[in-house]
Amino acid sequence: MKIFLDGQFYDKQDAKISVFDHGLLYGDGVFEGIRFYNGRVFRLEEHIDRLYDSAKAICLTIPMTPAEMTEALLETIRINELKDGYVRLVVTRGVGDLGLNPLLCPKASVFIIAAKITLYPEEMYKNGLTVVTCATRRIPHGALSPMVKSLNYLNNVLAKIEAQQAGAGEGLMLNEQGYVAECTGDNIFTIKNGQVYTPPISAGALAGVTREAMFHIAAQLGVTISEPNMTRYDIYTADECFLTGTAAEVIPVTKLDTRVIGTGKPGPLTLQFIEKFHELTANSGTAIY
Ligand code: PMP
Repeated sequence: MKIFLDGQFYDKQDAKISVFDHGLLYGDGVFEGIRFYNGRVFRLEEHIDRLYDSAKAICLTIPMTPAEMTEALLETIRINELKDGYVRLVVTRGVGDLGLNPLLCPKASVFIIAAKITLYPEEMYKNGLTVVTCATRRIPHGALSPMVKSLNYLNNVLAKIEAQQAGAGEGLMLNEQGYVAECTGDNIFTIKNGQVYTPPISAGALAGVTREAMFHIAAQLGVTISEPNMTRYDIYTADECFLTGTAAEVIPVTKLDTRVIGTGKPGPLTLQFIEKFHELTANSGTAIY
């Protein structure tokens, strides 16, 4: 495996960053997770845009233009001779001293890993995921904006630990007001009486690229998606529920906090979203080769 690191390719065992890198010392940096299918990168421009927006929000200057970043990403996939997989693109604040002052980090570091990823067991895609509500709340807009896809994921890691300890496949995160934000690494959707709902970004959801693709698919299916503030009640009483994310793709949810959602099986409209999503990923994207 070859890793892109600051303009060069290294073998996996040689791709190393400093222990003084503020990405490691302070979680100071941003990242993206991007999938490619059959030689095409899905929604590449949207991911690159979000990366640069995240960097701008934390005053991090990426030492490459978006076009150079795009080419480096494509080259990382090519050099590893992959057709299907997942890319992790990371920009850290770079090497500084032991204080947190980012001005003492002269240059951001960029690394890109192209590999495979499986987030949930195959069985859960067929039978649905069990979700529990986590006590850990989603980070509020008044702290680190939850829209920034930053390297500071401890908030979500803690929620994931809670879900694991409860024996669930995923954890639902609420915001400070008690409204549904999202799951630890995925956006959430419900369906009730043929109408699709997802929490607004303002509730603390990441502006997911897969979430956005659901709006495109909904238009194809002739259904509309609304974005009201949602509570757990809306999920308990929904007919169907599913999660979306680059790594997760589209996965049905059949239980929240021991309440069975709908029939307890992946719902018919959810299955249509999944099918259309596979069609979309197979038939769109930036050519790699
Ligand atoms: N929410 C969080 C917290 C995430 O980390 C992610 C990405 N894994 C998502 C939602 C889904 O976003 P996307 O569809 O862009 O991958």
